[in-house]
Amino acid sequence: SNNANVLVFSEKMRETLLFKSRLKANLEYALANNQMYLTYQPVVDSSTADIIFCEALLRWYCDGNLVSPEDFIPIAEQHGFIHEIGAWVLNQACQDATRWEFAEHVGVSVNMSVAQIMHLDIINITQNAITQSGIAPHRLHIEITESLFAENLDKVIKVVRKLQALGAKVSIDDFGTGFSSLALLQNLSADIVKIDKCFIYALKHGGDVIIQATQSIAQDFKYDVVAEGVETAEQVEALKSMGIKYLQGYYFSKPLTFSDLNKFAEAHSNGITTERLTEGC
Ligand code: C2E
Ligand code: MG
Ligand code: MG
Ligand code: MG
Repeated sequence: SNNANVLVFSEKMRETLLFKSRLKANLEYALANNQMYLTYQPVVDSSTADIIFCEALLRWYCDGNLVSPEDFIPIAEQHGFIHEIGAWVLNQACQDATRWEFAEHVGVSVNMSVAQIMHLDIINITQNAITQSGIAPHRLHIEITESLFAENLDKVIKVVRKLQALGAKVSIDDFGTGFSSLALLQNLSADIVKIDKCFIYALKHGGDVIIQATQSIAQDFKYDVVAEGVETAEQVEALKSMGIKYLQGYYFSKPLTFSDLNKFAEAHSNGITTERLTEGC
């Protein structure tokens, strides 16, 4: 009945509020007590299978549960923790990359949210991470979600230029999900486009048309193209035949801890691709 629906709805709302306030309290604790860690998901060259760069993805065990960054990043943004978290992620990712055993040239990408990009100090924070770790600046990529550009385009373009002036590369993440897509590629002159995984899932249902169009435009504007969320051999073949240069997804590897990434890379370079490591903690 209608009444039942209302009850269910308000119960959900209450749970969400409780969840958020608990998360906020625990987030403060987590930050102070090193309860967060980074995992790394490789991106491979579709023709050689070489690892080109690895994306740092933040993990947080809260009361024995793995909380998704999609849940806690927005809360960290609301409550102003994102800058501390973001600086920690940048420093850790740059340091880890300089200690990878498998390759000195493999890049590391770090996600940045709206609030981070808009922060007055973001260029200094990034420069610090580069200087402190001693990483070659071109190995650092900053991933910025496409939807972020809609409202703040001029400001974001300025930050992108400054990040590039440090020597870092800039990727447009989740490409195709915002609405400013095509003009954005021209105006932004970033370095890499990551096509959102929803188009890879929907390859056979029109996704291929979007992917092909993106690939063609990206090529004209001199971007490298990455397809995210690649899960099957069939998708790999389809994307390769469309000329997509770089691939990332569970088909190759889940996000891995620092030590599992070293193991994966070693096995990978020895041509052992059948044993896939699952996400560690
Ligand atoms: P994203 O940057 O677009 O990352 C891709 C997400 O897809 C990751 O989820 C990854 O684990 C997942 N993924 C990778 N391959 C596959 C696949 O084959 N299939 C499927 N279904 N999923 C796949 P995750 O790690 O939960 O991160 C979610 C989002 O949280 C990220 O989206 C990013 O926007 C944000 N995030 C993660 N770490 C950080 C961080 O350190 N800082 C900031 N600001 N945001 C972060
Ligand atoms: Mg990303
Ligand atoms: Mg993405
Ligand atoms: Mg995303």
